[in-house]
Amino acid sequence: MDKRFPIEDQIEMLGSMIRGTVIPPHHSSYDAARMVALAQFDCRPTAIVRVANAADVAAVLNFAQATDLPVAVRSGGHSTGGHGTADGALVIDVRDLNRIDIDASGRTAWAGAGMTSGEVTRAVEQYGLIVGFGDSAGVGIAGLTLGGGIGYLVRKHGLTIDSLLAVEIVTASGDILIADEHHHAELFWALRGGGGNFGVVTRFKYKLHPLPSFTGGPLVFPPTPEIIAGFAALADAAPNELSAIAMIMPLPPIPTIPVQAHGKLAFVAMMAYAGDPDAAQQALAPFRALATPLADKGATGPYSSLYMLDPPPEMRAMVSIRSRFADRFGIEEARALVAAAASCSAPMSMSQIRVLGGAHTAVAANATAFAHRNSRFMVSFLAMYGGGPDVVAAQERWVSDALKAVTPSGDGTYVNFLGAGDGPGGAAAAYPSATRERLARVKLSYDPDNLFRLNTNIRPAA
Ligand SMILES: Cc1cc2nc3c(=O)[nH]c(=O)nc-3n(C[C@H](O)[C@H](O)[C@H](O)COP(=O)(O)OP(=O)(O)OC[C@H]3O[C@@H](n4cnc5c(N)ncnc54)[C@H](O)[C@@H]3O)c2cc1C
Repeated sequence: MDKRFPIEDQIEMLGSMIRGTVIPPHHSSYDAARMVALAQFDCRPTAIVRVANAADVAAVLNFAQATDLPVAVRSGGHSTGGHGTADGALVIDVRDLNRIDIDASGRTAWAGAGMTSGEVTRAVEQYGLIVGFGDSAGVGIAGLTLGGGIGYLVRKHGLTIDSLLAVEIVTASGDILIADEHHHAELFWALRGGGGNFGVVTRFKYKLHPLPSFTGGPLVFPPTPEIIAGFAALADAAPNELSAIAMIMPLPPIPTIPVQAHGKLAFVAMMAYAGDPDAAQQALAPFRALATPLADKGATGPYSSLYMLDPPPEMRAMVSIRSRFADRFGIEEARALVAAAASCSAPMSMSQIRVLGGAHTAVAANATAFAHRNSRFMVSFLAMYGGGPDVVAAQERWVSDALKAVTPSGDGTYVNFLGAGDGPGGAAAAYPSATRERLARVKLSYDPDNLFRLNTNIRPAA
């Protein structure tokens, strides 16, 4: 690029060099294109580039280095730390990389990095196959997979990365590589948990698992410490087919919930059984016996029906979040969870436990860059709200205090649940030192100048 031209003209020229679309601030779709899922990240990038293929990505990376523009990479736009955008950055938006090639008999799929969890799930479940993502349809497979991926199949099939066979990635030098267990094996290790530090992934190859039958849905209880501790103990000891994400939250005003319960706190346990419907009923029976459920919506049906859907753009909220892995969740933790949930002033909050174990724990802690394999629980607090800086400060305080009250010490943080309020120490909280040092060496090999730094950053080091 000729730096004598104003940056606006250079951006215009970039548009003529690629197959995708460059969206600068004066473009009619700029405001829609710069929007991400969390309302507080209201940034104004220099331009958003919707790439059409890996060659486009290489051209944009080359352009960014020639013009010294910082690079942000975005797939589904759900980063809880706001990493998929930044003021003044060149945003590489991969959402048009949305092709999926399914080999149903070989039980694998190559999925474009711009696809959402819901899109991939709906495509593969038509073949009676599945790969586990998280709890929400709109979350991008790229950000979720690169951080680990904890969802409704975590005990049955492990994290999303445990079903990852290969990636196609464009590195800082513009090389288009396939990384798997045999090619660029250290890079492949780092990509399974190390986030967006190593390049722009254009495609993911997943192992697919047979899912002939699935039973899932919410079991809703009064939010008492005894029920919650009882739930955690049962879920910890349940067969691996059963995974659960459970939370204290205000009940939403939807027709399936009695009107008198709307807005009241309840313990909502999202139950997911991957297997035979009769076995599902047997596995769910002890949970149903914890107390009379306020609602019991578990049913046999498509896996994708369990996903949370994104609110419409005009109802997006600001989100404060904190999480921590934990080894125990007993009655004391349950009491603290109930007290914390009751003290939240946000209109919507989730005081959440994810029960791990099973296939998640069967993988060695150093086999991937996600190192929290021995943790049995993950505790998270989310507040969703609107308002000014004072509201943000109050909700950041709530998530922080709530986490300290329930898990005063713990086994680190999930990189995909780091919020802006976690501050610059995110990588230290998310990765034990041996993992961090190994990630830094991979970073030195593939991104020595730290081009990919708008993320939970790993600095290159020998
Ligand atoms: C409503 C909601 C529900 C969630 N539920 C779960 C859950 O159940 N389980 C779970 O594990 N996580 C969950 N998450 C966290 C989620 O996994 C992370 O926020 C993830 O980073 C989002 O991915 P994305 O592609 O949508 O985000 P983006 O903002 O698009 O990307 C996030 C970051 O990922 C990296 N990245 C994105 N695309 C690429 C690419 N193509 N190549 C290289 N790097 C890339 C970049 O560093 C980018 O900044 C949830 C988040 C939200 C907001």
